[in-house]
Amino acid sequence: MKIEIVRDIPQLTNITKKMLSEGKQIGVVPTMGALHAGHMSLATESRNQTDVTIATIFVNPTQFAAGEDLAQYPRDLENDIRLLEEVGVDYVFIPDSDQVYPEGFTTTVQPPQVAMTLEGEHRPTHFAGVATVVLKLLNMTRASKAFFGQKDYQQSLVIQRMVEDLNVPCEIVVCPIVRDTDGLALSSRNAYLSATDREIALSISRTLHITEQLIREGERDNHVVMNEMKQSLIDGGVDMIDYAMVANANDLTIPEEIELPAVCLIAAKVGKTRLIDNCLIYEK
Ligand code: AMP
Repeated sequence: MKIEIVRDIPQLTNITKKMLSEGKQIGVVPTMGALHAGHMSLATESRNQTDVTIATIFVNPTQFAAGEDLAQYPRDLENDIRLLEEVGVDYVFIPDSDQVYPEGFTTTVQPPQVAMTLEGEHRPTHFAGVATVVLKLLNMTRASKAFFGQKDYQQSLVIQRMVEDLNVPCEIVVCPIVRDTDGLALSSRNAYLSATDREIALSISRTLHITEQLIREGERDNHVVMNEMKQSLIDGGVDMIDYAMVANANDLTIPEEIELPAVCLIAAKVGKTRLIDNCLIYEK
């Protein structure tokens, strides 16, 4: 079936009302566009788990700080729509900023505690922007399941906690990280990388792999592990590291002694591009 493009909220409301009256379960896949196989895996999962899938494309200005890449953020709407149609997404909602944030808009979500460290330290206003827009999108689409990527691990914890704290009737489904054949986690921002940058960027996923091995071999001293992570990144040519840490997978606290499940998280700038990646380690 052909995908239907929805550009305004009243039109979306009519659709969701009809779907709900027919007893259909709605799944939503929130994105900022410039779509790739990572986004498609979320859309496919939504197709498998729900009756109707709505993808949203909105480059949310409130989650970017001044000086970040809002204006340059890659946009390729035609290709995005084609990809979504290929995987069988039913609707794509593409609102403009004035609809999402009309004149006089002042209400925001104060993000949960888990938003305060890591990304929250380096991008202090980011998660308030994310939490607010996600809550709005969940309300607008009336989705009972929303699909997010583990690629943005802290974001997935923030959203899960927000939904719990605010009694939002929506299940958050977190899908695995999709990587390129060379190991680089797919990201819309990879489009910014030069060939040399990309070589350097590969040391991020390589470092996560090495860190997982180290922990699996029994190293539990987080000081030792985090030093190894930093050294591995530096050896690979990454010199602008925001963080390289091993955290408790549930609350992102940084233990002195690593316990599983743990998550290894890296944020670093390669050239002008800020990249994030992570690796979850469960007890086998
Ligand atoms: P974005 O368009 O970057 O805001 O991402 C939209 C959604 O796609 C978020 O839930 C991301 O975590 C998810 N996502 C981005 N990259 C990947 C990836 N490589 N694998 C799986 N999910 C991803």
